[in-house]
Amino acid sequence: MGRAVGIDLGTTTSAVAIVGPDGIPTILPNREGERLTPSVVLYQGHDWLVGSSAKQSVADAPDVVQFVKRHMGDRDWAFVTTEGRQLEAEMVSGAILRRIKDDAELVLGEPVTDAVISVPAHFGDPQRKATEDAGEIAGLNVLGLINEPTAAAVSHAVQTGRQGTVLVYDLGGGTFDVTIMDIVERDFRVRSTQGDRNLGGLLWDNALMGYLIGQGHSGGVAEDLMRSPELQERAERAKHTLTTTNEARVPVRVGGRQQIVRVTRTIFEELTRDLLDRTRANVDIALADAGLTADQIDHILLAGGSTRMPMVRDMLGSFFGRPPTPGANPDEAVALGAAVQAAMLAHGSAGYTEMPSAGTPATLTKPDIVIHDVTAHGLGVISFDPATGVHRNHVLLPCNSPIPGCGERRFVTAASGQSVIRLRITEGDDEDVDFVRTIGQARIALPETSGRTPLRVVISLNADAVVYAEVFNDIGNKLGDLEIERGSNLTRVEIDRAAASLRRANLG
Ligand code: ADP
Ligand code: MG
Repeated sequence: MGRAVGIDLGTTTSAVAIVGPDGIPTILPNREGERLTPSVVLYQGHDWLVGSSAKQSVADAPDVVQFVKRHMGDRDWAFVTTEGRQLEAEMVSGAILRRIKDDAELVLGEPVTDAVISVPAHFGDPQRKATEDAGEIAGLNVLGLINEPTAAAVSHAVQTGRQGTVLVYDLGGGTFDVTIMDIVERDFRVRSTQGDRNLGGLLWDNALMGYLIGQGHSGGVAEDLMRSPELQERAERAKHTLTTTNEARVPVRVGGRQQIVRVTRTIFEELTRDLLDRTRANVDIALADAGLTADQIDHILLAGGSTRMPMVRDMLGSFFGRPPTPGANPDEAVALGAAVQAAMLAHGSAGYTEMPSAGTPATLTKPDIVIHDVTAHGLGVISFDPATGVHRNHVLLPCNSPIPGCGERRFVTAASGQSVIRLRITEGDDEDVDFVRTIGQARIALPETSGRTPLRVVISLNADAVVYAEVFNDIGNKLGDLEIERGSNLTRVEIDRAAASLRRANLG
C-alpha cells in the first residue's frame, strides 16, 4: 500500500496533508510550492490544468470551471465545454483530486494510494456519495470521509492538547458549518451540527460586486456584469484588503469607462450584515440542539478562509464574551485533521498513545483518536396509506443522531398479496413529503403471501454517513439488502468511464 493522505476538497481551495513519522500532520505543498491549491480546472481537449494556472485564466479562457463543489450530488448539473463535452461535478472534482494526488507523490517521492476526504458536515448522502465517486475517478482508495468541522477540531486538539467543549465555526468560500463537540482526551464526541449549503465568502463577494456596479455607474446595472469573472476577482481582492485595512480602492470598468470606487470596511460590513446574521442563527440552533448556552463553550475554533474577516471575529467575540481561540490556521486545519484520520484508518493508529498536555504539541506517543460524529439531516422512509391516499414521511433517524447508526420502523404492505414494495428513502426531518428530499429508491420482491405483509425496514448510516437499507419480515428473516438507486449520483458504468477518461488526460 502507498501512503495515506488527508484531503480538504474545498469549494474555493483544496489542501493535502500527511502524518509524518513524528506523528504530526503537515501540509504537502503542490508542484508550484503552494500550500493551497485553488479548486479551479481549465479544460482543453485532453489537457486539464488545475490550480493557480487555471485560476489565472478564469477571466479569459472559456472552459474554466470553479466552485464545482456546490454541484456535487446534483445530476442535473454539468459543465458544458465549448466543444460540447459534458463534465459532471464528480469528473471535475476527480481532476482536482488527481492533481493533488500527483503533486503529493512528487513531494513524497512515493505513490499515494489512499485518502480521507473532508466534506461539509451538512452534506447529505448524495453529496457524500458523489465525493467518494470523485475520489475513485481520481484513482484513490477513499478510506473514509470526515466532516470538515470535526477535522478542524481534531487537528486543533492534536496540535495544542486543548480539551473541553468546543464550537467550530467553519465559513469557507461556498458553505457554512457549525459543530459543537466535546473533546475528552482522545475522544471527539459531536453534540450537534448545523449548516447552510449556500452561505460562504462568495456571497460576500457578490454583495460587494453589487455595490461596485451601483457606485461605478449611475443607472442600468448590467446583469452580465454580475457574472463577470474579472469583477468577481476584483471584489474578492477588495474583500481581502478590507480584512487588513479600513478602505479599499477598486478599479471598475463600466460602460467603457474606468473608475476607481472606494469602499470602506464599515460599508462592506453593512452590505453583508444579513449574511453574518445567518451564520449566527445557525450558531443559535447548534447550541440549542446541543442543550448548551454560549458560556458553556470552552473554545471557539475557526476554520475556512472567510473567518479571517474582522466582522466574523467581532461577532463571535461579542456573542461568546471572549475572542475565538487563536493559533490554528483556518485554511489548513481541515486537511491536517483529515490526515490524522487517514493515518488512523490506514494503520489502525495515528501513532498517538497519550494526549499532550495543554500547550505542547503532539509527538509520536500521543493517543489514537476516536471520533463520534452525528448526521446533519434526518433520514426516513415514505409510506402510503391506501385508506386515506396519503403519503407520509417517517423519520427513522433524526438529525444529530450518532453515526454510524440505524433506525427502524414496522410497516404493513398496502395491498393483500403485494409482490413488490418500493421504498423511497428521504433526507429531512419533516413528516410532510413536500419538505423532504428523496435520496434513493429501492425495490424489493416479497415472498408470496395471501394477506398484507408486516415488514421491518432498517435504515443505517455508515461512519461516512452514507445510507444503507435492509428489510426484514415479521419473524426477523432478512428479505434483502436494498440496492439504493441514487438518482442524484453517477452509475457504476459512468464512474468507470470517467475514471478511464481521466487516466488518459494530460493533467497539469
Ligand atoms: P472553501 O473551504 O470553500 O474552499 P476556504 O476555506 O478556502 O474555502 O475559504 C475561501 C474563502 O475565504 C473565499 O471566499 C476567500 O475570499 C475567503 N478569504 C480568504 N482569505 C481571506 C481574507 N484575508 N479576508 C477575507 N476573506 C478571505
Ligand atoms: Mg473549507
